[in-house]
Amino acid sequence: MPPSGERPTLIRGARLADGSAVDVSIADGLVVDVATAGTAPVPTDSSSVLDLDGHLLLAATADPHAHLDKARSWDAITPPMGDLRAAIASWRAYADHMSTDDIVARAHDQALRNLRHGTTAIRTHVDVLRGPQPLRGIHALVEVRDMLRDVMDIEIIALASDDVPTAVIETALDAGADGVGGAAHLAPEPLTELDRFVEIAARRDCVLDMHTDESLDEAVTLGALAERTHGWTRNVSAGHCVRLGTLEPAHRDELIAAVVRSRIGIIANPITNLYLQGWNHEVATPRGLTAARQLLDAGARFAAGADNVRDPFNPLGRSDALETAMLLVVAAHLDVEEAFTAVSHGAREVMALPPAGPTPGAAADLLAVKAHSLIEAVAEAPADRVVIHHGSVVSRSTTSVTYPSLTPSPETAR
Ligand SMILES: [Zn+2]
Repeated sequence: MPPSGERPTLIRGARLADGSAVDVSIADGLVVDVATAGTAPVPTDSSSVLDLDGHLLLAATADPHAHLDKARSWDAITPPMGDLRAAIASWRAYADHMSTDDIVARAHDQALRNLRHGTTAIRTHVDVLRGPQPLRGIHALVEVRDMLRDVMDIEIIALASDDVPTAVIETALDAGADGVGGAAHLAPEPLTELDRFVEIAARRDCVLDMHTDESLDEAVTLGALAERTHGWTRNVSAGHCVRLGTLEPAHRDELIAAVVRSRIGIIANPITNLYLQGWNHEVATPRGLTAARQLLDAGARFAAGADNVRDPFNPLGRSDALETAMLLVVAAHLDVEEAFTAVSHGAREVMALPPAGPTPGAAADLLAVKAHSLIEAVAEAPADRVVIHHGSVVSRSTTSVTYPSLTPSPETAR
């Protein structure tokens, strides 16, 4: 249990995205009241008050599509830049020999970076590896999940390629994975591979999250996924869906209608797919993005993740949800509110987590950013943030800037 000062019952001084100044009352990990600033009863114990002057108070972000087992491996691998298949080849050569300790160290480091950015829930895909000891990644992430249990929610999806036997995938579930997923579009027989994962998820009654159609012009498996899981009550998601963004409108809209009927969650991963797709298009390079606008307009469950960070699939990025939101604005043409929803409420909804944010009844998973407005927060992604999970302050970042050559020095905390 954190010190009492880090488990506030009253937040004051913050503004909401609509500009209103508010007092936010918290009890038992829930937001119980949001009142006009200065009107909430102040607790007698001053350590129960958290002053967030100058901060914008938002829902904590969630990442519905991460790869913590791969995170921050770029420097060790030094892979060539390239497309998805090149990245897979570089990753496999490294993964065949990596140790569980290596995975734990990188995943733990990255998860804490995500936390300080404001992400209190992560769904991470974790490779079921080839060869002996295929569960090194799963064991590592189960360990990291336990280490961070008090500060964030981590959900593990066992990710397997078509050369990993079904029985091995099922041992990953036995070892603590919450769900399964694959990349059927990359298999020689995409629909047979898709059916394999649909059958595992049905038999084990677990989450199904497929890497789906991560290509500008290859196979389309999204419609088959929608058809096979129609009527399911268990959680089903499709990540990437890049091909959906390049289909002719009539075919695209038909698939989107099937997605909406089946209630599949669609998870866009802009930073990775802007990097991985389009290498062979010398001019008018297409954007590797799903049909975000049409999915939202059709009422699909829609979210976005940061996906890969500093690994062969994406050398750059911070795995910061505000970075993902920025890319949804500039590359997918969502507005700022839609983009932030995709990395907060939308992400939690796709992950089947209860709503969070500065709203009565919601989970007290909150992100306070030193900014005046949501557009400023997404544009500048200020490092100064306070992160709250289940009502406890779990991360606090502050920066200071000086201009020592100017007299007098206009010191600023921004
Ligand atoms: Zn992925």
